Amino acid sequence: MAKEHYSIAVDGPSGAGKSTLAKALARELNIIYVDTGAIYRTIGLEVFRRGLDPKNEAEVSAILPELSIRMEYEDDGLQHMFLNGEDVTADIRLPNISLYASDVSALPAVRAFLLEMQRELARRNCVIMDGRDIGTVVLPDAEVKIYLTASAEERAKRRFLELAARGAGKTYQEVLEEQRLRDDNDMHRAIAPLKPAEDSVIVDTTELDFEQSKQAVLSIIRERVGV
Ligand code: C5P
Repeated sequence: MAKEHYSIAVDGPSGAGKSTLAKALARELNIIYVDTGAIYRTIGLEVFRRGLDPKNEAEVSAILPELSIRMEYEDDGLQHMFLNGEDVTADIRLPNISLYASDVSALPAVRAFLLEMQRELARRNCVIMDGRDIGTVVLPDAEVKIYLTASAEERAKRRFLELAARGAGKTYQEVLEEQRLRDDNDMHRAIAPLKPAEDSVIVDTTELDFEQSKQAVLSIIRERVGV
């Protein structure tokens, strides 16, 4: 019997293809895709705009009460992020915001601020939620937990090609180095570090193309949830 309400957690390092895959699966299963990285990016953007130090917990937590963060799903299927009423969906993807997001996400005050917002989305909807700590912290009871990964070189190659297609002038070495920094931050922070949940299924896509990765994850979901 198919479950009526369920959650799918997809965690993994940057560049593993979580968002592309989760978006496609959400469409296929007709459920909501929640990109939690976008929420951390929104706070990172505000910290950048105000010229604050993203590693300074006192400075960053002082601005949190002034932030109203909202997400909306528009007809284009995109998750739009609103910061105090302004649509910042494009700005949070600027390359320098990635490290700001990674830095602010290591602050306990920021994680606590966002925890309930993420859980509430999963209570109200069937979701496929991607991030770093969804299976371990945000949704420990998720019916399906996937840890999506690929070799560092393969992830950097995919990201480099994606950036090159958009005309961003970064070399492969620069992309690899920035990714290494972020992985290191995300895996070694004291709070909610990136790691596979004990009951997650690890899917390594180094040797898989997009369609093969999608089928691999879909069959795990079908087996667990019966959809
Ligand atoms: O997934 P994305 O690369 O957009 O996330 C940006 C940053 O936000 C990550 O490098 C990570 O530091 C942080 N993040 C997090 N926990 C999540 C999602 C993202 O710490 N659940």
